[in-house]
Amino acid sequence: MSKITYITTAIPYVNSRPHIGFALELVQADAITRYNRLIGHGVRLQTGTDENAFKNVLTARELNVPTVELVNKNAELFLKLAKALNISCDKFIRTTEPGHRRAVTHLWRQLKPQDIYRKAYKGLYCTGCEDFYLERDLVNGRCPDHKIPPIEVQETNYFFRLSAYQDQLEQLLSKDVVKVVPETRKNEVLSFLRRGLQDFSISRAAHRSQGWGIAVPGDPSQIVYVWVDALINYISGLGYGTGDAWRQFWTESSTKIHVIGKNVWKFHAVYWPALLLSARLPLPNEIVVHGFLTERGHKISKSRGNAIDPFACVESFGTDAVRYYLLKAVSPFNDSDFSDDRLVQVYNSDLANGLGNLVSRVTSLCDRCDFGRYKTTSVQEAPEGYHQALRNYEFDKAVESLRKVIACLNQDIDRAKPWEGLKANKDATLKPQLSAWLQEIQRVSFWLFPFLPETSEKIKAVLSERAIRSCGALLPRLK
Ligand SMILES: [Zn+2]
Repeated sequence: MSKITYITTAIPYVNSRPHIGFALELVQADAITRYNRLIGHGVRLQTGTDENAFKNVLTARELNVPTVELVNKNAELFLKLAKALNISCDKFIRTTEPGHRRAVTHLWRQLKPQDIYRKAYKGLYCTGCEDFYLERDLVNGRCPDHKIPPIEVQETNYFFRLSAYQDQLEQLLSKDVVKVVPETRKNEVLSFLRRGLQDFSISRAAHRSQGWGIAVPGDPSQIVYVWVDALINYISGLGYGTGDAWRQFWTESSTKIHVIGKNVWKFHAVYWPALLLSARLPLPNEIVVHGFLTERGHKISKSRGNAIDPFACVESFGTDAVRYYLLKAVSPFNDSDFSDDRLVQVYNSDLANGLGNLVSRVTSLCDRCDFGRYKTTSVQEAPEGYHQALRNYEFDKAVESLRKVIACLNQDIDRAKPWEGLKANKDATLKPQLSAWLQEIQRVSFWLFPFLPETSEKIKAVLSERAIRSCGALLPRLK
């Protein structure tokens, strides 16, 4: 039986349009998904939107529109972004779906009764993070992420006994049963754990969110804390508790991968496994944590007014150009600058002058010497280092292994000067040479599929034509 892999992105809250940062997460998750499909695994990719966040209520209030209207409009844009980036997702989940609501209620009821208790408390709350902070975790009295002072909140909520899972979580995470990637993040998680886990509140007063959100089972005065609600999307999207997808991709799969940003590892690597343990459910196997995109060193955000519009990027440069940049020129784990200039530069050198030039030169030679049909060969080995890089989620290295092959082929052609042979009517020696190059092009384009699906498909189509014709500008230069 083939290996079964389940891949998810985090679900962003929908109080605004998507920015380029989420495009990075989508494209990374899609590359993992397509790679797994390519090597014959059974795969499912899920993305979606977190619609029950209080932030959505606040923004709707500011804009003077009903919350549901704001949420519907923006959720549509996130779906549109997934399409624009050619994300091969199998399920787009919205947390306002009835199935998700049912799953949240169900999971709450499955938590061990001794893990839930009520407590009156006072705490410092950042509405940006939808999370409480301890004084010691603030930077100059402000949220380290949002740079805003938290507000003091006083209420009675339900708490989850996270502290009871301290040792178990430490074991699971240090032994990579739940593997956090990269290693530096894993160490960050472990040192957070070793400082001691505090129980956390898993509900909010319903009046504070004007009733927006999912009611706590048996207590409509409280709604389920939005992070608990949001995390459950990973199983509600599979039909939690019932059906083939649930069985295949959660209970039986040994490869469940959450792709997330560096600001939310606490929820995914600590809270989420603890909730699953309490509910006696299988845990995710890997948590892959990417960095942020920056613009001239600054975090890209709407409040800073530098939110790069991913739709405009795709519009100007094309889907595969944006995907290539995010996977090749951006670090998979560390913060990286996003710049249009650099995108154009990388694209022109690697794709227009590299792959595009290679394919157009070889196909036009085929055309000129009446090469005829190319007999596609069976799948060739990937370049050295390719599989290992992808197993480590080092997308940049995997792409680089392909780029090197392309560069070598171009040099090969430069040296062989086949156009001279063509002039001298030496077709006989040219055809086997062209065959060999076409075989390499087939190999490269096959393994390029996870990164540049559209380009890969186009090359495949050219190679399978009855007679190979010059395909013109496959990857035209950008200005
Ligand atoms: Zn914050």
